[in-house]
Amino acid sequence: MLVEADVERAAEVLRGRADRTPLVPSLYAGADLWLKLEICQPIGAFKLRGALNAVAAAAGDVVCCSTGNHGRGVAWAAREAGKRAVICMSELVPEAKVAGIRALGAEVRIKGRSQDEAQAEADRLTREEGLTGISPFDDSLVIAGQATIGAEIMAERPGIETLLVPLSGGGLAAGVAFAAKRAKPSVRVVGVSMDRGAAMHESLLAGAPVQVEEVASLADSLGGGIGMENRMSFAMCRDLLDDTVLVTEEEIYRAMQETYYTDRLVAEGGSVVGLAALMAGKVRCDGPVATILTGRNVDMTQFTRVVTGQDVTLGEMTVKGVPHGA
Ligand SMILES: *Cc1c(COP(=O)(O)O)cnc(C)c1O
Repeated sequence: MLVEADVERAAEVLRGRADRTPLVPSLYAGADLWLKLEICQPIGAFKLRGALNAVAAAAGDVVCCSTGNHGRGVAWAAREAGKRAVICMSELVPEAKVAGIRALGAEVRIKGRSQDEAQAEADRLTREEGLTGISPFDDSLVIAGQATIGAEIMAERPGIETLLVPLSGGGLAAGVAFAAKRAKPSVRVVGVSMDRGAAMHESLLAGAPVQVEEVASLADSLGGGIGMENRMSFAMCRDLLDDTVLVTEEEIYRAMQETYYTDRLVAEGGSVVGLAALMAGKVRCDGPVATILTGRNVDMTQFTRVVTGQDVTLGEMTVKGVPHGA
């Protein structure tokens, strides 16, 4: 389990490098909604926080497994620290994300068709070549880094009553819930995932980590398992989250449009699931609500199709096109 000093130390490491993104009011009319703009981070996603904190503490070179944003974060942090970074990822990761990581100077290894297979390769490099493995979500330094987001939100807007947090491996939700509830015990923290392949949601229902099938989604950053040997993020999400909610691909599609046309912001599908849940009436929103726009590293061809109301094909399924506001 985390202690408060871990979050304070992480905030020190991040100071001047990844701290204090803006918390802005959304123009969305359906709720008193605040947006924490982690899309403004140097790598375009919040994962820089956990990565900077973990890479700073690593003795030597680092390796990780990532659907993209964690890999970018580790690559950026390693370059800053003068360390070598090897990033392992599955074949399902969009090409734009792979190219982005190579551009940051990291070595990319493509391995298998799931996050778990890519993780096995990262584990092998840790064992056989002595690199320090950095989990995208199941690591106390990473969770402490992500926790600084919760601390910043509650310090800036203590009136927030509900936090809607995009949920995949649960490092973000665990950290944010931990820090936010330290600041304000009554704050409700709700994890939001897409309804196909929601590993943490299924695991929480089962009472233990379960494997889910990974499928293409507008929220590709939320794909992947939580690890059958999960050490921290599962227990923290179980103990700290008030609820988990699932949203459909159609709801994510509409929330991406809403974020773009109403707030004029470019955000990944995985970023807007909190808004999607609000728009679908799937979460209660009596008081002020905050959500985290977690990343903006979206495939621009897909993004353009969404905001112009065209059909989007995701593996076997098609999300029917619909213009904004229709
Ligand atoms: C990683 C990621 C998440 C989910 O974070 P977890 O700690 O894995 O739950 C949400 N949004 C984006 C954009 C991400 O990259």
